Amino acid sequence: MVLKRRNHGRNRKGRGSQGVSVVCDGCGGRPPKDKAVKRFQVRNMVDSSSMRDIREASAYENYQVPKMYLKMQYCVGCAVHRRVVRGRAREARKIRDPPPRRPFARK
Ligand SMILES: [Zn+2]
Repeated sequence: MVLKRRNHGRNRKGRGSQGVSVVCDGCGGRPPKDKAVKRFQVRNMVDSSSMRDIREASAYENYQVPKMYLKMQYCVGCAVHRRVVRGRAREARKIRDPPPRRPFARK
């Protein structure tokens, strides 16, 4: 049988079935827990453009705007759609280090 991934895109590691499915944050589908694409996301409560307005209007000097701490879980389809993960060429798959960070890529 043609085998695309050694682990079949999952992370079972001798546990057999995980027994738990998670709810996808994109479509509400239920991928198995070991297959879901999980990302921990820390985001500012307000976007950077409104941030400046708030800071100017604020009475406090150094006010830290609260952040949102989200654990996102996606099914493979949604992860690909949102570009969390990508299908990569056979050679490119061997590169294990994270992609270069671009903090201010778009304005
Ligand atoms: Zn989904």
